[in-house]
Amino acid sequence: MTQASLTPTTEHRRIAFIGAGNMPRAIISGLVSSGYPADMIYASNPSQGKLDALAADFGINVNNHNHAVVQAAEVIVLSVKPQLMEKVCSDLASLDLSQKLILTIAAGVEAHKYAEYLQQEIKLIRTMPNTPAQLGLALTGLYSAQELSQADRDYATAAMKAIGEVVWLEREAELDNVIACAGSSVAYFFLFAEAMQNTAVDMGVKPEDARSMIQQAMLGAAQMLVHNSDTSAEQLRHNVTSKGGTTAAAINTFQEGGLEPLVDSAMKNCVKRAQEMA
Ligand code: NAP
Repeated sequence: MTQASLTPTTEHRRIAFIGAGNMPRAIISGLVSSGYPADMIYASNPSQGKLDALAADFGINVNNHNHAVVQAAEVIVLSVKPQLMEKVCSDLASLDLSQKLILTIAAGVEAHKYAEYLQQEIKLIRTMPNTPAQLGLALTGLYSAQELSQADRDYATAAMKAIGEVVWLEREAELDNVIACAGSSVAYFFLFAEAMQNTAVDMGVKPEDARSMIQQAMLGAAQMLVHNSDTSAEQLRHNVTSKGGTTAAAINTFQEGGLEPLVDSAMKNCVKRAQEMA
């Protein structure tokens, strides 16, 4: 698990999650495992079950009222679904948020809308984590439309590093690229695994063996990319492809079938859809 260690007391701030679904749970888990004091973490959510589970599993503070946790914290993480963001923010508009750092993990809600919904000037960072956050293997894109202090920037970097790697972006539109490259892309690999497993079974491999073989090959390939970061993916592919051999037969089939243009269209359609949804 890739985790940043935050130095206690100086860098920890009271942090409150508004919405206690899957993604905040992953972030809270990462924070607590990286040594963030649980008593400095708060979460609010309408249904009590999720709050009880978070309190039991991580020892954090929970409350049904968004106002209560916002007032208790210096950092607010807006973690509700995008379609609920306006309603949830409007309800917080009566609170003075000027001294708080606000992070949002919602996809598709543009930075300028938060100040509008909250009816005040705020310090906001949009973050775009992905589902491997559950395993501490997230890639989170971060973007702020404002000049932030180094302390705020470092805090957000360290907080999101509790669930994986982070990339700061210079333009808000680049968050859509993060969706295509790191968010939705997780499902592209699942689709590839699914197709390979189906063919393996069709060739007579037992389903459980097909799954083991393919997941281990994906894991091995991913680790080879990580461990050989100065070698391109293309070079790594060439290294395992002998001319006229078995791998070449498969790779040629992919290339003649148009894999590269298909990937190009798929990723650009993903970005287009993210833009339409904003
Ligand atoms: P989720 O599991 O559906 O959680 C959303 C939570 O918001 C639910 O627990 C819901 O509570 C709570 N909620 C509803 N109304 C609320 C209110 N008025 N005040 C406070 N909480 C309220 O969703 P998620 O997967 O955690 O996603 C949360 C955000 O993360 C979304 O904006 C999504 O775009 C973003 N995100 C998620 C992922 C991902 O991989 N999951 C990746 C990137 C970004 P009830 O269950 O009680 O209704």
